[in-house]
Amino acid sequence: MGPNCLTVGAFQSNCYVLGPGSDGTVLVIDPGAEAERIRDFIIETGGTLAAILLTHAHLDHVGAVAMIKRQFDAPIYLHPSDLPLYNSAAAQGVAFGLVVEPPPPPDIEFSHGDIVNFGPFEFEVRHTPGHSPGSVTLVAERSAFVGDCIFSGSIGRTDLEGGDTETLLAAIVREILSLPMQTKLFTGHGPATTVAAEAATNPFLAGLLEPCQRCGAPLAPRLAGCKGGHCAHCDHPYPHGDCSDV
Ligand SMILES: [Zn+2]
Ligand SMILES: [Zn+2]
Repeated sequence: MGPNCLTVGAFQSNCYVLGPGSDGTVLVIDPGAEAERIRDFIIETGGTLAAILLTHAHLDHVGAVAMIKRQFDAPIYLHPSDLPLYNSAAAQGVAFGLVVEPPPPPDIEFSHGDIVNFGPFEFEVRHTPGHSPGSVTLVAERSAFVGDCIFSGSIGRTDLEGGDTETLLAAIVREILSLPMQTKLFTGHGPATTVAAEAATNPFLAGLLEPCQRCGAPLAPRLAGCKGGHCAHCDHPYPHGDCSDV
C-alpha cells in the first residue's frame, strides 16, 4: 500500500502520511501547509505520530511543522545543511506574502548513509543536494521520497539560495537513478513516478545515462568505479565494461 499523499498550500506541495504500521506508528513527511488538515488526517489514522521527517527546508515543505510538533510532540528530522533555510522559514514566507510560524529547532540531524527506524518503517538517508544544500532522499523498500530533487519529467529548481544544477544532476544520477528501476519515487510536487520512467524519458537527464551493454536499459554511469555494480534491469554485472575491480 502506498503512502497517503495530501497536496497542500499555495505551492501544492505533497505531504506524505505513512501508517499506521502494525504497531500503530505513523510518520509525516514534509508538513508544508494546511496544518489543521494534516493534523486531522493524522488523528484519523488512529495511530501515534513517531516522527516529522523533512526532505528539505523550503517554506512549502516546513510551513506546518510548528503546529504539528506542538500537537504531537514528535521529533523533527532535518539535514543540518538546510538549517539556515529552516531558520529563515518565516522570512521565506514574507517573500511570498505568507504568514509562517517559525518551526522549532530540529531534534535529530539526518546524515548521509543513516538507517532510521520507526516501528516497522525503515529508511536509508541519502544526501541529495542541489535543489537545496541539505536536501535528502529517504529510501524505503521499493520506494523513495525524493523531495524536490526530481519530478515526473522534470527536476528541482536550482535558482534559489544554495541551489546548484550540476550538484543536483550529480546527486540524482548517483543516489536516485542508482536505485532499482522499479523503485517508485514520491515527489515533493505532482504525481509519483519511477526510476525507470525518469531514466527513459526525463529530458533533463538525457545524455547523463548510458545503455546497459546487455539489455540496453538506461543506466547512470558509475562515478567512482563499479565495484558491486550491476544493471538494475537485467542484473548484468559491470554494465559499462570499464571496471577492473572484480
Ligand atoms: Zn524546495
Ligand atoms: Zn517544494
